Amino acid sequence: MQQRLLFLGPPGAGKGTQAIRLCNRNGLSHLSTGDLLRAEVKAATPLGIETAEIMDKGELVSDSLVLSIVEKRLSDLHGGWLLDGFPRTLPQAESLEVLLKQINQPIDAVVLIHLNDEVLIERLLARGRSDDDEAVIRHRLRLYQEKTAPLVDHYNKQGLVKTIEGDGDIEAIASRIEESLK
Ligand code: AMP
Repeated sequence: MQQRLLFLGPPGAGKGTQAIRLCNRNGLSHLSTGDLLRAEVKAATPLGIETAEIMDKGELVSDSLVLSIVEKRLSDLHGGWLLDGFPRTLPQAESLEVLLKQINQPIDAVVLIHLNDEVLIERLLARGRSDDDEAVIRHRLRLYQEKTAPLVDHYNKQGLVKTIEGDGDIEAIASRIEESLK
């Protein structure tokens, strides 16, 4: 199976759930910038205090801050990995490419989980995280379209994108993802 992966898709598409499952089954390291940032908030580190409000409003944390978190962890990774929720902007993608070149670990595939907006909003409202109120959700979806969706084109040009339909049963979606990475 391909070993160096990115997961792309709007908030609520099931990236986190599928990422954890795929990593557990295949011994990949899971790196979620959202999880790392939430851990900083919980521990009330200076970085967490700086980002809590930004996250609760559904805004994106600055590229430089996210990169500072990813950079160190990426260089410590051994074997396969899956980046979940990063990159989210073109500058993040470009910086990632520079980092990966330095450690000589190119991306093997980009898994895009696709789901329509109405299903996404329903799912996010049911999840009930602190950044899951409806106005914030709509804002996060808008930001996704504006800042993150252009990455699909960017990675399509490199022939890396596998598009997976994200509706339906968790196991069925997981099989579709594994199948696409063989
Ligand atoms: P997630 O768990 O991926 O939905 O991320 C939750 C929140 O963390 C996002 O709404 C952003 O505020 C922030 N965040 C996570 N990853 C990134 C990233 N790569 N760039 C900017 N902000 C991020």
